[in-house]
Amino acid sequence: MQFSAIIGQKEVSDQLVKMVHQNRLGHALLFLGREGCGALNLAQAFAQYIVCEKVNGKPGASQAPSLFAEDPQPSTGHNNNEPLNDSCGICPACIKSSKLIHPDIHFCYPVVTKKPGEQPLSTDYITEWRNFIVEKPYGNAYDWLQFIGAENKQGNITAKECNEIVHKMSLKSFEAGYKILILWMPEYLGAEGNKLLKLIEEPPPNTVFIFVAENDALILPTILSRLQLIKLPPLQDGAIARALESQFEDLSPDKALQLASISDGNFREALLHVQNSGEDDWEGLLRDGLNAIVKSGPVAQVKWVEEAAKLGREKQKQFLKYFLRLLEEAVRIEVLGPQGFNADETLTSTFEMAVKLNKICSLDQKEAIMNELDHASYYIERNANAKILFHALTIKLSHIIRNKSLILVN
Ligand SMILES: [Zn+2]
Repeated sequence: MQFSAIIGQKEVSDQLVKMVHQNRLGHALLFLGREGCGALNLAQAFAQYIVCEKVNGKPGASQAPSLFAEDPQPSTGHNNNEPLNDSCGICPACIKSSKLIHPDIHFCYPVVTKKPGEQPLSTDYITEWRNFIVEKPYGNAYDWLQFIGAENKQGNITAKECNEIVHKMSLKSFEAGYKILILWMPEYLGAEGNKLLKLIEEPPPNTVFIFVAENDALILPTILSRLQLIKLPPLQDGAIARALESQFEDLSPDKALQLASISDGNFREALLHVQNSGEDDWEGLLRDGLNAIVKSGPVAQVKWVEEAAKLGREKQKQFLKYFLRLLEEAVRIEVLGPQGFNADETLTSTFEMAVKLNKICSLDQKEAIMNELDHASYYIERNANAKILFHALTIKLSHIIRNKSLILVN
């Protein structure tokens, strides 16, 4: 995988390349980012960058100066040539890396035991792992454990695995000059992780450890304190929308934006929304609902409630989330002006909708509506009767919105 194939995260990948070439990167890194931000993908692309023959010279040829600092520190730069910003994607090392069969790139991840009493190793599941990365590149630990049929079993990175890592990483590299370990989900590493401390602290030459985590609070403190932190932000709505559009031909640009806007920067969630959304058009549904409340009156409101009640629970939750997200944007635009819009310029339909909301309700009213939407989501989650719930919601919203006309009259 090349950096260019990753959704978003351009700033972080540029930063990584820059740090490598300024000799500011240590041997033990922590890629930390919330679910669905693509931290594992970035780790793979970075590993490929390190082994790429275009970046790092051909195997067997005299090695270029080390890409990694023995003691991370700013340097005057040792490369005469302009550094490459990405792996080439076509050399033998890149091909092997993209197929997850490069002999110098090792993966470690939580697994479950196959036979009672036996400590499992990551390599026991290597075939499944390769399939998982292809099928669910943005999957989380739960997805992975389901993928390998763990059911209710707790995933684990075992003491035996830690010993195996120590052994593997102390061997000479096969091809690349570098040995890389990508350890996914160090959150699953218990006290046995302390077996890795010495290795991380005094790494054999030309070894790179990339820990990929979602929650640093769950990482063994002794390990955490020895890692150089690389933080990944949640994905931008625009990046998610473009990726959805390119993956799903039938998805209209507007729909892709709607789905992106309710995904909290999480591509895994965005994919789930695509699965659940079908042909629904929340922008249209919201416009109808607001028109019924503001202009058309009770008959239209009842009709709209029927529509909303027909959606399944998941879709109702998505719709409310979409509405909430839109209100947040509207508040931002009202407070900060158009530049407060929290996405790139491609999200015009969302922007227009937010501006319209600002025309019909004040800041206080938006806050009141948000509270009502929060309540509604809470009760939908708990199986409330959808018809009654949406009926109550439209009545409350019409009270909140009508309040403004009273204020205006006064
Ligand atoms: Zn290459």
